[in-house]
Amino acid sequence: MRYISTRGKAPEIGFAEVVTTGLAPDMGLYVPKDWPRFSEPQLSQLSGKSYQDIAFSVLQPFIGDDLSSGELKGCIERAYANFGHEAVAPLVQIGSRAWLLELFHGPTLAFKDVAMRLLSQLMDTINKRTARRVTIIGATSGDTGSAAIDAFRGSATVDIFILYPHGRISEIQRRQMTSVADSNVYTLAVEGTFDDCQALVKAMFADCHFNETLNLAGVNSINWARIIAQSVYYFTSALALGAPTRAVSYCVPTGNFGNIFAGYVAKCMGLPIRDLLVATNSNNILDRALQSGEYKIRGVHHTISPSMDIEISSNFERLLFEYYGRDPEKILSCMGGLRDHGSFSIDHEVLCSIRKEFASHAATEAETRAVIQLMLEKTGLLIDPHTAVGLAAAATLPSDDATPIITLATAHPAKFPDAVEDATGARPSLPERLADLLGRPERVVTFSRNLSDIQKYIAQNSRIKVSL
Ligand SMILES: *Cc1c(COP(=O)(O)O)cnc(C)c1O
Repeated sequence: MRYISTRGKAPEIGFAEVVTTGLAPDMGLYVPKDWPRFSEPQLSQLSGKSYQDIAFSVLQPFIGDDLSSGELKGCIERAYANFGHEAVAPLVQIGSRAWLLELFHGPTLAFKDVAMRLLSQLMDTINKRTARRVTIIGATSGDTGSAAIDAFRGSATVDIFILYPHGRISEIQRRQMTSVADSNVYTLAVEGTFDDCQALVKAMFADCHFNETLNLAGVNSINWARIIAQSVYYFTSALALGAPTRAVSYCVPTGNFGNIFAGYVAKCMGLPIRDLLVATNSNNILDRALQSGEYKIRGVHHTISPSMDIEISSNFERLLFEYYGRDPEKILSCMGGLRDHGSFSIDHEVLCSIRKEFASHAATEAETRAVIQLMLEKTGLLIDPHTAVGLAAAATLPSDDATPIITLATAHPAKFPDAVEDATGARPSLPERLADLLGRPERVVTFSRNLSDIQKYIAQNSRIKVSL
């Protein structure tokens, strides 16, 4: 499979390169040159198979000859070997036609483990083939960093450096990063905000000499391998509920538009998905854009579902590219507007066709808390605030319809215990395998917002000069 940039001015690349590349050199996002498709009989053949087998069939066409079948199978096996649930992403029925898809059984208790663990295996396998090392640098507001550190710990070919805003992430999130003892993992607490951390990371990628000598790689949500790893659970869940003969709808708590775009990918590949429902918290830029056609920055504020406190929803560019008939000029003009004036408008016909397949809802903080409380009363389940934002949106779908509606449960309630306790009075406890987290020793280096100090630290510690 070949990959092209949404902005039309970058060379085509293959899967092996896409795995380690973040933004394309023209600042666009890579997308596959064409969509692999499953026929209905092909989909029927997948039903009843294991998560790992379905993952193989979904991923293989995006990878082509860049990995052998044996290599891909090995990556998938290792990625999901230590999940807390044998099904990887189990479905739990919560109403007559409503299900939760639990994506939080990975080691760091949020859905980001599902994609990050596969990405680490793919990257390591490709690095070994090409006898090279890479240095991952990332900024995190919590969940991405912990998932990335856990996924890449102990890698023979990757060193990972994660920057987080000192004092501004939860204790659980911090400890999940700082308690990892592997020598290829470095956690940097930066005196500043998440935006400061992100700006430092961007500056390091923009420093050509630093970037090239350290072979920098990104693992944020625009990474294509993460997207397709997420498409897999749309297949497993829809097949379990009757696809391809019965269509299903999904409701997805959304920030960077990565997880829901993975659902759109599954739909493009032939999976019968009826509605894709974009669920946002009160940082509702996507809901406003889908209602009005105007994508307009207003400023981010803090909510009890912090992993969705975002206004630059990077993967939305991929959706626009598809709906604008893959015309890079249209994307350049939208993104130019965003950069220069903080807004752009979506053409009327394009908006109409997006709205045929996507609905949206923005949950207030009070609504989110009420849903957490109501779920506990109705089903006995504690859910996390991000999942609650999804369920608030699911409640807006017409109730007289027989299509199953699956809400993606993106985090374990114990990852956000204060918000859950505040809403219900009950404090969720950590799963057994993490019960000792709060007692593990921590390892972290604190930095002021000084680019060159941080670069020096990374250059000194990276193993890039050591041959494999
Ligand atoms: C990252 C995250 C989201 C948002 O996912 P996107 O792919 O950015 O839309 C939702 N919930 C949780 C718990 C997350 O960590």
